[in-house]
Amino acid sequence: MQIINTAKQTQQQVNEWRKAGYTIGFVPTMGFLHEGHKSLIDCSVAENDKTVVSIFVNPTQFAPTEDLEKYPKDFTADSTMCQNAGVDLIFFPQNEEMYPKNFATNITMNGDITKQLCGKSRPTHFSGVCTVVAKLFNIVPADNAYFGKKDAQQLAIITQMVQDLNFSVKIIGCPIIREIDGLAKSSRNSYLSADERKAAVIVSKAIFTGEKLAQENKLTVEQIVNEMHSIIESEPLAKIDYVEIVDLATLTKISQNTIAILGAVAVFIGKTRLIDNFILERK
Ligand code: AMP
Repeated sequence: MQIINTAKQTQQQVNEWRKAGYTIGFVPTMGFLHEGHKSLIDCSVAENDKTVVSIFVNPTQFAPTEDLEKYPKDFTADSTMCQNAGVDLIFFPQNEEMYPKNFATNITMNGDITKQLCGKSRPTHFSGVCTVVAKLFNIVPADNAYFGKKDAQQLAIITQMVQDLNFSVKIIGCPIIREIDGLAKSSRNSYLSADERKAAVIVSKAIFTGEKLAQENKLTVEQIVNEMHSIIESEPLAKIDYVEIVDLATLTKISQNTIAILGAVAVFIGKTRLIDNFILERK
């Protein structure tokens, strides 16, 4: 497995593989890898000749008040996991490599998709995500790129950007990987104290209940959202950012044209902001 710090060398290596006829799978990450990341890597390794993982904590997707400085890192453990999983190349740039002093471009998306859900409390977040992912797609010209449904809004936005900007990479969404008690795996779970970790299970409890009620199709969307609210509010350490059920395609209100619904929550457990969701095809 190669570990490369520069964009140019990574691009050269991937282009060499392409010329040799290999298919390329790409898994962009911010590191501190867990089973959720590994599931994306496993998919990529199974479906492509070569797999590239990027590890970069992208500063432009963090607001000044957010957790950029304390975001967890463990490159040694990450590279061991990648090596064992059959990754061929880790792209591991420093900030100056991605954002040199004269860097001036920013990708911003119009319309509702970046303004709904997490976009309400994190208004600059998705612009940072789009900009870094567009750069990464140019640095790693892959056939397939793997993203988790855990970040459902991010997946929808990247799918839209790839379509709008004619990237040739195929975006593949992978299922949410959870802890045994249901909590969605996340690098940010490492921030939780023992009490907070116990309390955090309320997030997936609300998601599972919301999903079940939506499947049963007896209550209105508002009633289901209220049920989910009550469940989360029963936990004293939890503070709701949002609980919403929306059209998966537009992330706005469900309509007659809705094919799939997204039930999504963001909840603070102490200072840690956790997100989770369910997706349901409409009958
Ligand atoms: P991150 O390192 O948090 O930026 O995540 C990198 C990729 O892993 C993103 O596509 C995430 O959606 C995905 N991911 C993170 N946690 C999970 C999880 N629990 N299950 C599935 N995918 C995940």
